Amino acid sequence: MKKNLIFTEQSQFNALKVFRHMDRVCDLMKGKKMFPISVDLSVSNFCNQKCVWCYYRGYLESARTMLDKGLLLSLLRELSALGVKGINFTGGGEPLTHPALIEVMEYAHAKGIDVGLITNGVLLNKEKIRRLTRIAKFIRISLSSSGAKNYRKFHNAHKDDFKKLIENLKLLGEYSKGSKCLTGVLFLLEPKTQSELLDTIELVKKSGLKFFEVRLIKNTPCFTPGSLTRENDILYEKAKGYADNNFDIIMRDELVRATPRYGKEYKLCYAHEFVTSISAEGDVYVCCEFEGKKKYAFGNIKKKKFEDIWFSDERKKVVKNLDLSKCFACCKGDGINQLFHTLNNLEHLNFM
Ligand code: SF4
Ligand code: SF4
Repeated sequence: MKKNLIFTEQSQFNALKVFRHMDRVCDLMKGKKMFPISVDLSVSNFCNQKCVWCYYRGYLESARTMLDKGLLLSLLRELSALGVKGINFTGGGEPLTHPALIEVMEYAHAKGIDVGLITNGVLLNKEKIRRLTRIAKFIRISLSSSGAKNYRKFHNAHKDDFKKLIENLKLLGEYSKGSKCLTGVLFLLEPKTQSELLDTIELVKKSGLKFFEVRLIKNTPCFTPGSLTRENDILYEKAKGYADNNFDIIMRDELVRATPRYGKEYKLCYAHEFVTSISAEGDVYVCCEFEGKKKYAFGNIKKKKFEDIWFSDERKKVVKNLDLSKCFACCKGDGINQLFHTLNNLEHLNFM
């Protein structure tokens, strides 16, 4: 993979990677039953922070709970047997508030499943970082400021959190050096964080992490169309100066350039066949974008096996009733959906 300032199509976020799973793609195209390739798993709805832009905030406050360790281990055994290949341990809340998180991730890894972690990073420590960097494919920290004052303000964080995070970034850099674990930061770009972008890149690079991803905060109308384009934004040019063979700057340009809006040009969501979402309440959702909105859930792992939920009538009903005009234009599944929409609308298939 090319290193440097990279845009989505050259990065690990490129939706084309779905074609590395041709067996599932063929099954889908032939209308056969198939299980997802990956699962976004929220183990806990608790969080040690209250970020001003938290997408799940209302939901987390209304459903404070976490998944039982025994249930998680039996879920992982089942998912592994069904051929799920990757689990993204994410929110909901902060995964590290779950006391058994690392053990559960190690178990998934031992079962042959790739694991990744999305976290605010404050609850990490040397021992957790040592264990995680041995098994995780990636660890992504959320950080959108370079100084303690704004960090505290944006994250509604405890006064000591920023200091702890800086220490943890250094440990992550140290322990992931030479390992296969990609460590990096997600920076949420909006008017109040924009001026902190370059200093934050510098801080993360100095800590020895391997990537820096930039996204627009999608549920706030931050920018007008065209105000942040690849061509005209001076920040991109300055950011380039920090990228090198050991440090990627990933501009999620489809997310940065799109203004938050709803609705799709396609009418079917294919992406949910490849990646699904399980909440800390145990509900299986059509995708992580709808976590907490029960009408998009089709069963609960506390009551049924995942396999039974996946092939249930409830799932068919939720999918049939999906109204894509209520989905964010730049949702997680958009890349895959656009690919399949294009494929299904091609003509003259037998002329190359
Ligand atoms: S750290 Fe994540 S889950 Fe916690 S409040 Fe912030 S955005 Fe929400
Ligand atoms: S938000 Fe995206 S992934 Fe989720 S159902 Fe809508 S189109 Fe599919």
